[in-house]
Amino acid sequence: MALTFQTVIGLEIHVQLATKSKLFCACSTDYIGARPNSNVCPVCLGQPGSLPVVNGRAVELAVMVGLALGSTVQQATRFHRKNYFYPDLSKDYQISQYDLPICAGGRLSFRDDDGVEVSVAITRAHLEEDAGKLVHPSADGRLAGARYSLVDYNRSGVPLLEIVSEPDITSPAHARRYTEEIRRLVRCLGVSDGDMESGSLRVDANISQKVSDGRWGSRVEIKNMNSLRSLERALEYEVKRQRKVLGEGGEIRQETRHWDDGEGKTRPMRGKEEAHDYRYFPDPDLPPLIVESDRLKGIAAVMPELPWQAESRLVSAYGLSDDDAKIFAESADTVAYLDGCIRAGADPKRAANWIRTEVLRVLNEQKIDLATFTLEASDLASLLALVDGGKLSTTAAKDVFDVMVRDGVALEPAMTASGVTAGLVEGSQLEDIADKILAENEEAVEAVRSGRDPKGKKVKFLQGLIMRETRGQADVAQVEDLLRRRLI
Ligand SMILES: [Zn+2]
Repeated sequence: MALTFQTVIGLEIHVQLATKSKLFCACSTDYIGARPNSNVCPVCLGQPGSLPVVNGRAVELAVMVGLALGSTVQQATRFHRKNYFYPDLSKDYQISQYDLPICAGGRLSFRDDDGVEVSVAITRAHLEEDAGKLVHPSADGRLAGARYSLVDYNRSGVPLLEIVSEPDITSPAHARRYTEEIRRLVRCLGVSDGDMESGSLRVDANISQKVSDGRWGSRVEIKNMNSLRSLERALEYEVKRQRKVLGEGGEIRQETRHWDDGEGKTRPMRGKEEAHDYRYFPDPDLPPLIVESDRLKGIAAVMPELPWQAESRLVSAYGLSDDDAKIFAESADTVAYLDGCIRAGADPKRAANWIRTEVLRVLNEQKIDLATFTLEASDLASLLALVDGGKLSTTAAKDVFDVMVRDGVALEPAMTASGVTAGLVEGSQLEDIADKILAENEEAVEAVRSGRDPKGKKVKFLQGLIMRETRGQADVAQVEDLLRRRLI
């Protein structure tokens, strides 16, 4: 009988916490683009006699993630030293958490691409400091080919929250969705920018195969996946590789493999260390970390609406489609803007539609976010009220919208500036426009009058020009009637 396989995946996600200073010192966390080794001090370099002091904001951000994931936030926790030698770690140990992580347990649920509900248990989330960075001055920036290496400790001591899942994930697609949800969560909480390319969200995956004949393939750790797409591709590659080896009766080596995005392959890096290799022991320089009940309650009280909560509210309260709700819930700012628009009287679906198309278009074009967007939600609502009341066509409203955004002005001045008036263009105003168009298109007019337009194409053409001139604000029947009279 043919063998069947079951994929087992667990993820470790390192989230760089958005604090101003490092986890145990006052150095800036801003290491991208900074002069090498400019944001360092005796504490983050681990010089003798220096004493670390934990950053309270980093603790708060970790607690927020724990509360959102339904973890038990441990009120008494501590830091351990994880000992290993590597040139990017100047003190030869990393301060991390071991037996008492700040968050224990929890769960993350989401719908997969087919709409099926998936639930992944969280093992733990713990605080730790980042290491420095090695710079290899070779043509491609890699160690091979470099005559020497430089080390930049600006990143040493930057706070990380490592979120560890149980091996509950059963496919590469689910691993991607899980990571997407974690990213959405940390962004919504303001805990991290969650950017995988720049490394503020790093995913390591443990993947193995269970075979139908009772064998279990060893667990392989995959590193160096810098986007959601490469995460999914790396895991798909690894599923195939492991199934092929096991299918041929071979054994999977327990090891760490490096994903090469260009080649689309994983390659062995080094044997996997066992936990005891790190000789963990409690850091004698740091007292136990106590999160008082009042502080915990204070953090819980200011938790923002979580993305999945926002998503279901937008569907139930505003009647948005699941797709629209998902897009809005990507960012708390977008949800707040939509809420503001609806509170100011806009129809929910129309407001959602405008924000999705027009507002997000402008944000993309200008490369800004809603925080710096000049148009207030209430101003957009008053514009949309005119569209709803039949006073402004969508075309005219878009012109006015562009002026409001461009000049940063309110509705009235924007309408004046774009030459749009509320209400139907009719009577003498419509006649003037029609006469102007007819005067500009003598050839078409002559063709109609002399009976050379049997199919009425030229009449439609003139009608289209008049509608465009009124920005869609004229009544089609009135325009037809007017043309009939004028073209006799
Ligand atoms: Zn420092």
